[in-house]
Amino acid sequence: MVGKPVVFGLPLEVLLEIFWYLHPLDLVYLTRVSKLFRSFLLHRRKAKSLWTGALKRIDRLPQCPSYLSEPAYANLLFWPFCHRCHSSCDVIQWELRIRCCNGCTSHMLVGQEMLPSFVNQLSCLDVRQLIPMSVISSAGPCVRHTDITNRKLLTVASHADVNKFNMQYKFVKDSPLSNDLIIHREKATEEIYQHVALCRIWEAEVAGRRRKELVDQRKRDVVEKLQNLGLGDELESLLSDASVLKEFDNLIVRQDQELTDSSCQVSLPRLQNFLEIRRARRLTVYLQDRFKILAVVVSETVKAFKNDKTNTVFPHAIDICLLSEVRCMINAPEVMSAEAFVDALTLRLPPLLLAWNRQATGQLADLVRAQLCGIDNAVDPLALAALVFRCSNCRLHVTYPSALTHPCLYAKTFDKPWVQLPMETTALGRTMSPVEIYEKAAIEGFEMHPWNCTVLEADGYTKRIHNLFQALGRDPNSTVVNDMESCPIRVTCKSCSGSRNRMILTYRTALIHLVRNHSDGKNDAVWGVVV
Ligand SMILES: [Zn+2]
Ligand SMILES: [Zn+2]
Ligand SMILES: [Zn+2]
Repeated sequence: MVGKPVVFGLPLEVLLEIFWYLHPLDLVYLTRVSKLFRSFLLHRRKAKSLWTGALKRIDRLPQCPSYLSEPAYANLLFWPFCHRCHSSCDVIQWELRIRCCNGCTSHMLVGQEMLPSFVNQLSCLDVRQLIPMSVISSAGPCVRHTDITNRKLLTVASHADVNKFNMQYKFVKDSPLSNDLIIHREKATEEIYQHVALCRIWEAEVAGRRRKELVDQRKRDVVEKLQNLGLGDELESLLSDASVLKEFDNLIVRQDQELTDSSCQVSLPRLQNFLEIRRARRLTVYLQDRFKILAVVVSETVKAFKNDKTNTVFPHAIDICLLSEVRCMINAPEVMSAEAFVDALTLRLPPLLLAWNRQATGQLADLVRAQLCGIDNAVDPLALAALVFRCSNCRLHVTYPSALTHPCLYAKTFDKPWVQLPMETTALGRTMSPVEIYEKAAIEGFEMHPWNCTVLEADGYTKRIHNLFQALGRDPNSTVVNDMESCPIRVTCKSCSGSRNRMILTYRTALIHLVRNHSDGKNDAVWGVVV
């Protein structure tokens, strides 16, 4: 049905009953919706009690001053628009009893220096005692004083006040009444300033309450979002620590200059990061406790193994620590006490040590096969007689099996995911997974990185070794160490032997001579077979 809203058809008594419960701003809006409402609501006698009642219900609001009607007061207080152009305007010029947007400055305000000349000629100490004046930012009346940085302040009056004073003055000019006018003006202006002081207090209280509501609302929003991110448990743990809770609150409130949705978006990664770092720290403390126990158990078990001599290469505690099976044991604090952990680990360690050895050896073999082309498929790459590694870290040469325990294999390598930035500089919004925290805690706790053979190069000397094997009459891609142990052939390095002393070398001592004396940048050896 198109037509007048049903409210217009209601009897006056019903309307009055409804109006009685309205907020002053609702009444202001009603004065603007229809002529009928307007003439009723602005009727001094009939509607006064409605407005007075509505204003009274506003908590701690100063009473309507004598120089404003109740509707004008309500309009000034609550109608958030410029009094001239009706564009949005949050700032009230209390002394001037107006709202003036930045665009209407020249139409509604007069700078102190632009006041009519008679004003200054009147016998008065301060012009502000005759005309109510307000201080605004040179950036515009809508820029709040608190937002002003490096801005000049201007003292202004309203055009309406200046015009009124002008007319009054013209009327009494050069008559004895002019003195009365000054007294009257001083009194009226003083009344305005006194009321303004009360209004400012009230405005600050309202702003404070609003700010608190917004902060509380934001806190609820943020907490909900963080809970959705799986950080609820960490939030719970904050409650027990007053100083950390305060730090957390500050992170929320710090963003409060503009309590908008977008500022909430900005603060969320910060808060998330704060909680993640805390969680990581708490977890790290617990983990490193367990790691200490693990280090003792591993060292004892390895000692027993070494006595048996069943295995030649053993992992460090950090390698055992990073095995997924051990990680599961350590990560289950609620089901496993420290004692139970020691028992379980002692039981599981022997097969784990052997499994690690198999895995590490396998990885090294894969690395050799990948780097050296043409190795016979039937041959174990690590058994090759021609195998010499070069360490890309320290540039030393190493042979198998000692290569498995070369110290650089426990040095930091840059292509591994566990090499992380320090926790504090972790990028905002970047979540550290429990696995990452675990690995970082292990690296910090054991002060070394896990075993990683990619630092070794098997192809560092390929061409020169092949030359040696050619002299020995053997195929470097299939000859294994065992074949060569019994090999009777001896060689000499012609480039290093003098005319008097000639070195006689087995294949192994020849290899060592090669990598020590004929490495990069030096000439290749010239081999001769010793007959
Ligand atoms: Zn305006
Ligand atoms: Zn090295
Ligand atoms: Zn030589």
